Amino acid sequence: MTTPSSTARLLDGKALSAQILDQLQSAVAKHQQQGGAQPGLATVLVGDDPASHIYVRHKRRACENVGIQSFHYPLEAYVGQSQLLELIQQLNEDERVHGILVQLPLPRDVDYVEQDVLAAIAPHKDADGFHPANQGALLQGQKAPIPCTPKGVMRLLAETKMELSGAHAVVVGRSNIVGKPVAMLLLEQNMTVTLCHSRTRDLAAEVRRADVVVAAVGVPELIEGDWIKPGAVVLDVGINRKADGKLVGDVEFYAAAEHAAWITPVPGGVGPMTIAMLLENTVEAAGVPL
Ligand code: NDP
Repeated sequence: MTTPSSTARLLDGKALSAQILDQLQSAVAKHQQQGGAQPGLATVLVGDDPASHIYVRHKRRACENVGIQSFHYPLEAYVGQSQLLELIQQLNEDERVHGILVQLPLPRDVDYVEQDVLAAIAPHKDADGFHPANQGALLQGQKAPIPCTPKGVMRLLAETKMELSGAHAVVVGRSNIVGKPVAMLLLEQNMTVTLCHSRTRDLAAEVRRADVVVAAVGVPELIEGDWIKPGAVVLDVGINRKADGKLVGDVEFYAAAEHAAWITPVPGGVGPMTIAMLLENTVEAAGVPL
């Protein structure tokens, strides 16, 4: 598929994630027919942030479609950290639960220490791959649950069949949940990786040298189309709502598509892959062969 009036091919995360979910559904059904346990994912949602409610609803619906049992724990924002840690401990011990997800961000009005909450999840049930032990394992190139969005980015990149070894990747954004882990995964593929952030002196010059651009910033259309090197692959993680209600990424999509060989749309690119990878992590944690 090509994008309108451009040379770039579309990296369709919606279609790829649908394929992955189908494969997961078959694998889960087969596993259960052979006497294996049904995989279970526990979602913990603290407070009433509307966007978080929508994300969790989508994740639970996807679980149902794939045959993963979904356990949902909505908590009032004021429950406090000790009750939250107690719940996580119970879920760590619950044999029906193979993956635990605490929806971020935690409410700001209570003094939650996000790192302590994430560290309380048993590393083998860490469906989001945010536990410090799993992040350390990623740094060392060891097998561990991989954060869902970076894993989805790598799966989309693999679709291009481009030779990654020796090529130059530029990641814009250095968060613990997207930028840093995606940089590690690109490095693992023997790419030369540049990690940019808000203090980078000349972002345009860095992006111009990239064979692969991963944008994970949260600033609408920050990356201008004519910064993209001809033939580059552009993976746009950003999800930003403009004043007119339109959703856009961190990259000027149409202008970038004039130069890129491959590009992800927003919405319909990295977003659906994140959910597919969450379910894949849960199914893997349940020991279902894939
Ligand atoms: P964070 O806010 O945690 O990190 C943003 C990063 O962008 C920071 O490292 C920051 O630099 C950098 N940055 C900010 N402004 C600039 C700038 N002008 N130039 C260069 N770098 C800049 O965001 P997340 O990583 O959590 O998310 C990034 C985007 O991805 C958001 O739009 C989010 O909604 C989206 N997202 C999408 C997901 C999906 O499933 N598709 C999943 C997760 C996130 P510094 O460190 O110096 O402050």
